[in-house]
Amino acid sequence: MEKLKIAVSSCLLGEEVRFNGGHKRHRWLTHTLGEYADFVPYCPEVAIGMGIPRNPIRLIQTDSGTRAVDTDDATRDYTDALRDYAESVLPELDDVDGYVLMQGSPSCGMERVKLYNRHGIPEKNASGIYAEVIMQHRPWLPVEESGRLTDANLVENFVQRLYVYREWRTTRPWQSAKTLIDFHARQKYLLMMHDYAAYKRLGQLLADLKDKSRLEAIGHDYLEGLMTALKQVPKRGHRVNVLQHVMGYFKQELSDKEKASIRRSIEQYQAREVPFIVPVAMLKHYAYLHGDRFPYLMNQTFLNPYPEALGLRNPI
Ligand code: SF4
Repeated sequence: MEKLKIAVSSCLLGEEVRFNGGHKRHRWLTHTLGEYADFVPYCPEVAIGMGIPRNPIRLIQTDSGTRAVDTDDATRDYTDALRDYAESVLPELDDVDGYVLMQGSPSCGMERVKLYNRHGIPEKNASGIYAEVIMQHRPWLPVEESGRLTDANLVENFVQRLYVYREWRTTRPWQSAKTLIDFHARQKYLLMMHDYAAYKRLGQLLADLKDKSRLEAIGHDYLEGLMTALKQVPKRGHRVNVLQHVMGYFKQELSDKEKASIRRSIEQYQAREVPFIVPVAMLKHYAYLHGDRFPYLMNQTFLNPYPEALGLRNPI
């Protein structure tokens, strides 16, 4: 499988680009995801010429909106330069599958960055100036920040989005009605798990694709809806519902004992006794044994969402 291509805040890769000349190497990124991804580093503060080391900046609330300024001298304002740099980077981001941002940074932070009032007191949370431009202009791009990549559910969710978006980006399914509908069909159980209403809504969006001149625009709307739905971390009940749907395919193929054994593993997952991967692995086993009879199921992204060696789907 071809490697992912992921944009990353440079300091997370161990590059010594922080204001104090240090870095914030993220072990999971470099040691685990790095096996499956090529990284494209971006440090907006260095890119706009702030130098290393440099005075740190912070976000302040002003009459003209949120500004990123030097912590010692608020007249040194880097907001416009950071925004301009972000806009210059946007075309390059059409060739990546996602972006990992450094948490808490007034430039790179995805959310919950401190925003100071006129009295120097942090009042609200905001996004970093650079990150905000990226997320506004590429709302479909899978984006996550470093601090959240310690939560198993969020890691799984992010990796899932990376691979779905990579498939979209590389196979370009919006080029014909058939490929768009096939793509949506493959996401059925994944979407049912994340957001059933979105699955229905997106299906309706693809209901009339006769006008070829509108395919790209519809595909664009579809992508935004899809990536928004996949941001939702699936609830346990929705996961169970999908497991039961998948099991339904094998009703005729399985003995009573086999069915009882799968049901038991689903119940154990529901009771938080085993991780999600346990019933999924059982279902995959039977899917491979009997899969030639169920091509629709075998094509589902849900069965093979990302490389198994990443060891995801493990939260109990
Ligand atoms: S958080 Fe962003 S701006 Fe700050 S050092 Fe890391 S890459 Fe550079």
